[in-house]
Amino acid sequence: MHDESEVAVLRLGHRPGRDERMTTHVGLTARALGADRVWVPDNAGQSRDTVADITDRFGGPFEVELTDSPQRIIRNWEGRVVHLTMYGEQVQNVESEIRDAHRRDGEPILVVVGAEKVPFDVYEEADWNVGVTNQPHSEVAGLAVFLDRLFDGRELEREWEDADRRVVPMETGKRVESADGERDGDNE
Ligand code: SAM
Repeated sequence: MHDESEVAVLRLGHRPGRDERMTTHVGLTARALGADRVWVPDNAGQSRDTVADITDRFGGPFEVELTDSPQRIIRNWEGRVVHLTMYGEQVQNVESEIRDAHRRDGEPILVVVGAEKVPFDVYEEADWNVGVTNQPHSEVAGLAVFLDRLFDGRELEREWEDADRRVVPMETGKRVESADGERDGDNE
């Protein structure tokens, strides 16, 4: 979040067609749950465009960029690297150490999530390999739980800047207003 040290997400790998929604959802989840930016592979231009479009409409700040060399981003990262993997240490055992590095020591955090098999170099380069359970599931679910633990729930209260529209929370029904308060749409 923008008043804290940077948190970035790196999506490793993207199989065109098969991974379109997953890569898009990694980006949308990174944005919604408090990260400052996401890098997606350079063959995921459609996902990049979708995340940029949501940011234009619903606000930021949030950056989405393509990368042709994800491993260079890991190598050059000036901060700490967390790789989410079912084989890693349990999140509940390392979360406070990672939070201290981020909040107390001001270290930027790069969170790496995979698609298919992740090269072993990534396991070695990471400061922490972290499992959100040691069961196989999804990069989107792992990222969501990890970011919520990292920010300790603060991301749920964040304000969005430069939004065109805003959802009005309701017990029942759907209401979206333009950011200046005009009603934009409601129940379908
Ligand atoms: N089998 C692949 C491997 O060996 O790396 C992982 C495939 S999995 C479908 C895709 C990504 O989801 C992983 O790279 C990891 O980032 C994330 N993931 C899956 N289960 C996870 C878990 N229990 N904890 C944290 N991340 C997980």
